[in-house]
Order: sequence, then C-alpha cells, then structure tokens
Amino acid sequence: MALAPNVYDAEPIPDQARAEIDRLMQSGDLFRYTAPADAPVALLEREFADMMGVKYALAVSSCSAALFLSLRALDLAPGANVLIPAFTFAAVPSAIVHAGCQPVLVEVAENYRIDMRDFAAKLPGAAAVIISHMRGHTSDMDAIMALCDAAGVPVIEDAAHSLGTLWHGEKIGTIGKIGCFSFQSYKLINAGEGGILITDDADLAARAVIMSGAYEHNWKKHKGPDGQNDPELTEAFARWQNELPLYNMRLQNLSAAVIRPQLDEVPRRVRDGRANHDYVAAALNSSPWLDVPPPLAPETRAPDSIQFNLVGFETDDEARAFAQAAEARGVKVQVFGLSTDNARAFWNWRFIPGETPDLPQTRAMLMRACDVRLPARLKRPELDFIAGALIAAADDVKGEARRYGT
Ligand SMILES: *Cc1c(COP(=O)(O)O)cnc(C)c1O
Repeated sequence: MALAPNVYDAEPIPDQARAEIDRLMQSGDLFRYTAPADAPVALLEREFADMMGVKYALAVSSCSAALFLSLRALDLAPGANVLIPAFTFAAVPSAIVHAGCQPVLVEVAENYRIDMRDFAAKLPGAAAVIISHMRGHTSDMDAIMALCDAAGVPVIEDAAHSLGTLWHGEKIGTIGKIGCFSFQSYKLINAGEGGILITDDADLAARAVIMSGAYEHNWKKHKGPDGQNDPELTEAFARWQNELPLYNMRLQNLSAAVIRPQLDEVPRRVRDGRANHDYVAAALNSSPWLDVPPPLAPETRAPDSIQFNLVGFETDDEARAFAQAAEARGVKVQVFGLSTDNARAFWNWRFIPGETPDLPQTRAMLMRACDVRLPARLKRPELDFIAGALIAAADDVKGEARRYGT
C-alpha cells in the first residue's frame, strides 16, 4: 500500500535566500532601520506593494500584528464594535480585543462564507469590519462593499490565507481599505512568522508605520510608489509625529530575506494549489457523503487546503468516527467543531468580553465541516491517496447504513 503523504512539511526555501542570509550574517545588519536605504524589509515592502498593485505596504511581525495596527490606524473609539465572521482563527477576535474594541460575530453559512442577512442586520452600530477570508474562502465582496460603503464603515480584509485569490479578477486584499497577509509557515509564503499590510491610503499607512515602531524619523525610510518620496505620505508622517504610541511589531531583515525569493513562487503555488484542490474536490463530490461547496461565481481561488462537509452524518459520534476512519487510512482530518479547544470554534473564544453569542448556523456548520491540508507540492498519486482515503472513510461509517437502506 502507498504511504500516506506528509501534508505538514513545507517546501524548501529558494536557494537565492542563502546568499542574502550569509551577507546579513556577515554584516550583522538585521534591523530594518540601520541601513540608510534599501534594507531587505524595505525592498520586500516595495516588491509586495508592486505585486499587489497598491501604493503602500508595511511588513510586520505577523498577520495578527497587521490586523491590530489596521484597527489602531483607523483610530476607532475604545469599545467600538468590529464585525467579523464567526468562522475564523482566534487571532482575529484577539487582535480586536488587543486594540480595545469589541468583536461582534456574524453568522457563516454552510459554504464557509459570511451570511449576508446576518451581516446586514449587524452592520448598523459597527465602527469597522474585518472580513476574514477564512481558509481562502471569499465572502460576497460585492454585497459587503456596497453595504459598508453606503454606511461609511471601513473594511479590513484578513487575507492571511488568500494571497493569489481573485474576485472579479481583482486581487483579494486590495478591495477593502486595508489588506493583511501572513507569512506564518502554514500560509502560501513561509517565513516561520511575519505579516504585511497594504493600503492606498497615505494617512492609514503613516499611522500604521509609526505605531509599528518607526520611532523618531525612521519613517523617512518608508517611500511611496516606485520607491520615490511621496508628498502625501510625508505630510501624513508630519501630522502624526510624536502623536502615536509605538507597539514595536517590526519585521527583521532575515525574515525579509526568506520571503523575497518566494514572491516569484506565488504564481506556481497558486496554480498548482488550485489544480490540486479542484482535482480532490471533484473526487470527494462523487461520494454521496461528502460535499465540497463551490466557489462563488466572481471568485478564483488559491487554496492550499480543502474543506468539505459531511452529508447525512446525523450524530457527532458518526462525524468523529469518520475522522478516526480517515486517520486509520493515513489522512488526518480536523472536524472544526469536534476537536477539543479548537481555535477556530467561536465558543472557545472566551476572552471576548460579554456572553458567547448563540450562532446556530455557524455552530451546525462547524460540527460537520472538515479540514485537510493540501499543499501545492503534492502530486497526483498523493492526491489520489488522500481522496481515496476520505471517500473510503465515509463509506466505512455510512456505507453499511446505505447498503441496508436505513
Ligand atoms: C493564520 C491566520 C491568521 C494569523 O496569522 P499570523 O501571521 O499567524 O498572525 C489570521 N487570520 C487567518 C484567516 C489566518 O489563517
């Protein structure tokens, strides 16, 4: 029997990173603000902004830091309500609590995307919205932007898992006022840790840069498009000089050296990740017990994992039995709502002030939604192994019942 593929190992970091890391080790120049210009972090910011087609990028220590700084840059009142989908990673409501605001959870549908009825109902009274494109699933950005623009509510996109995803051909992360990405190891670009925020708004960029730790006049090393001085940005820096706290969430040069050569890999990883995902999705959808929700029409996805729902699994025990059967066949499945202390189950976010809201739709989804990693480097035999194991595991639990017509 074929060996189960390892879905946790990362791809090797491109060789070009070595020479740059060696150079940095030789010079000891690891702090982004030591060199007068062109520090690796500054070059990363320029390259990322160009890749995304935006004016400004700020590299920081994590996507969580980027979300936190985005909220602080928006200058929200203490305790202000910030809407988020109830299906996301615990770091997202955590960033809101850290920024002194109140997360308000919005129901998510069976297809993992924001329920627009609940969103519209909860939008009045919100000071900002974070759209977490959880596991790279894009919510209806047309409807969200129409509602938020009409209400004058700023949108932050948590695109931690959406690098390379398109919406009507537009890059996810560039649709809201600010987009935030992660370079943590389980994302498309792997630096162990790291994050970046992008925006076209000079005032927000300046505020975020200063609060990220550009003390004194270090902001002078942040440029506009084409690496040029940007009058709008310079004016904004002058406005905020000495007015803002420093949270010191900077990225260091070694991380930038690891990230920069991976930018060229993005198109290949996106293409292979999508092909792998769609191949496994078609196989899983051939089972009556498994359902992979389709993307929304305007969405071109860039997945590095697959999510699917268990169909006709009446009890939590049946769903658990599926996960056990899959593991016995060599594939580890996470049913989001069924593993103890899962960081993606909203009832475990007890650090949010106030009562845990009742969100029956999201809860029901989490109890049957499964998660399997599917890195872009996997090849057909490995994909066949994974799809085969999942289909067989569903049959292990449900096949008997079907054969006997119960
Ligand atoms: C990984 C992730 C984060 C957090 O990213 P970090 O860089 O680890 O802080 C936030 N949101 C989503 C949707 C994620 O997948």
